[in-house]
Amino acid sequence: EAAKAAKELMKYQDKPNGNEKCSNCIQFIPGKTPEADGECKVVEGSISPQGWCTAYSPES
Ligand code: SF4
Repeated sequence: EAAKAAKELMKYQDKPNGNEKCSNCIQFIPGKTPEADGECKVVEGSISPQGWCTAYSPES
């Protein structure tokens, strides 16, 4: 598995950026429930569905 980027590097925040948030990003791996923290394919650590970072990529 490729190394993931640090949250700091990607300027991860635990709030959305407008309508952009982890729960509608193609890189998000959901947790057990829609509200639970999940993971990200490119950013390390626990990721909030309400979070956001500079690698945000919208679902098409
Ligand atoms: Fe969230 Fe960024 Fe990962 Fe997308 S790439 S799920 S915005 S942390």
